[in-house]
Amino acid sequence: MRTRFLFLIPVFLWFCTAPSFAQDFSKVEIKTIKVAGNIYMLQGAGGNIGVSVGPDGILIVDDQYAPLADRIKAALKKLGDGKLKFILNTHYHGDHTGSNPIFGPDAPIISQTNARKRLTTEQQSKFFGWKFPPMPKEGLPVITFDQSVSVFFNGEEIKVIHFPHGHTDGDSVVFFTGANVVHMGDDFFQGRFPVVDLENGGDVEGMTRNVAEIISKLPADVKIIPGHGALSDLDGLKLFHRMLVETTAIVRKKMKAHKTLAQIKAEGLPEEWKAWGAGYIKTDMWLALVYTSLSEHAKH
Ligand SMILES: [Zn+2]
Repeated sequence: MRTRFLFLIPVFLWFCTAPSFAQDFSKVEIKTIKVAGNIYMLQGAGGNIGVSVGPDGILIVDDQYAPLADRIKAALKKLGDGKLKFILNTHYHGDHTGSNPIFGPDAPIISQTNARKRLTTEQQSKFFGWKFPPMPKEGLPVITFDQSVSVFFNGEEIKVIHFPHGHTDGDSVVFFTGANVVHMGDDFFQGRFPVVDLENGGDVEGMTRNVAEIISKLPADVKIIPGHGALSDLDGLKLFHRMLVETTAIVRKKMKAHKTLAQIKAEGLPEEWKAWGAGYIKTDMWLALVYTSLSEHAKH
């Protein structure tokens, strides 16, 4: 029992992506934000939830934590009487898939192949001190895809496209092509340094490439739901991309000058990026992630 409890601590820590450790799910409120047309965003704790609501029923993108499932259901009910028909998982992390076992019996869960694979077994990251236990069967995706899949729902094509090696190796970005809305999953942290799960297929430069590719495809007036943070737009995603490019260039240059990670951390980042370290990933941690990601590449 004792070992089991200790093992839960890092999981709990990770679940608490909000800055405070002592997060009490009983106080979390689910906020509903209208995005565009029939698309909404729900914020509570963990990853932002995207919602399509209309005559065909309800489709959700990610589902936060199991203790919030009832509150998520209540928020959905306020948007429409339709049944939950599909659940999309943008990647395997527990703050995006925690309610899978509760919603899974109601509607099919869809994810990229690698995301499902990771959900079937225990996942861990030494860097972050995480351990994710295997997902119970009722919470596993029942439909998977390698490259992309489309769901024709509520009068539009919802395109789910896999982008390789960014936040993890099983990331999907969801394009609501009619409503002109994108859910980026964790390939976008709005105004914050992102988590990059290097031990489970993540890659800082891969994330940068993915974000650049997505920017090149999007119309100027698109609304963008980030994995974490406030509802954003193309300018917000471009700023995130510039942060990735510029902070990576700084670390790369210092590595070429044979500086150690400790030196790079001590020198820090320009003032412009200071506020980006106010989230889960502090500036020191971001520098370590970039350094480690670039070092991995140098080995190959
Ligand atoms: Zn994540």
